[in-house]
Amino acid sequence: MTAAHSVAVTPRMAEPVHHLSEDLLLDYAAGTLDEAASLVVASHLTLCSACRSELSRLEAIGGALFATMPPMDLSAGALEAALAALESSDLDGLPASASQKHAADDRKASILPRAVQRYLGGDLDTVAWKRLGMGIETAEITLSNSDEAKAGKRSFLLKVPAGKAVPQHTHDGNELVLILQGSYKDEIGTFAKGDVAISDGSIDHRPVAGEGESCICLVATDAPLRLTGPLGAIINLFVRV
Ligand SMILES: [Zn+2]
Repeated sequence: MTAAHSVAVTPRMAEPVHHLSEDLLLDYAAGTLDEAASLVVASHLTLCSACRSELSRLEAIGGALFATMPPMDLSAGALEAALAALESSDLDGLPASASQKHAADDRKASILPRAVQRYLGGDLDTVAWKRLGMGIETAEITLSNSDEAKAGKRSFLLKVPAGKAVPQHTHDGNELVLILQGSYKDEIGTFAKGDVAISDGSIDHRPVAGEGESCICLVATDAPLRLTGPLGAIINLFVRV
């Protein structure tokens, strides 16, 4: 710990390296992405001009395609529902249909994007961390879509102390991770602030947090983790009961 004061933790102002997939952006633009994943996407967009541009491009293509479609009979109430949805859209939060509003000013004050703060009802100092063991802590984010929550979709913050590892695991479903502070390294690569890690059952990894500061991530999952390493006994630490 003696070196702690001499370690200059320079805020990483560079653009993220690991981005959202086109599929995620398309689903987000179409409003078909689930709430937990949408929160990760919206949060990454506040930190990434490349993905904001890509979203704009996809929205423009979608708009052009829509304009060339033959007129269709709308079901009763469809137009009203669409207009109501547009009216209630929070462009800084969810659902979002326009990318231009994702200003990159989130990083100046808090590590938590505004959309996340809104869900938590406050900033990082209000987060009620729950210890999982080995110094790893988590804080559940309550989703408003109870059907998705019942179907096993979750969003939570995860905090891993500097230099510590998350047990080896794979995923039965999909997992989206956005790094909000610090970094981690796994078999796939190094992920730092603003980066998105997209995992599924094909990825078996053991993320290790970088040195210097704890790694805080926003996570969206649609199935529990499955521990694959020798520490399988602590599986219950990661499975919500
Ligand atoms: Zn990006």
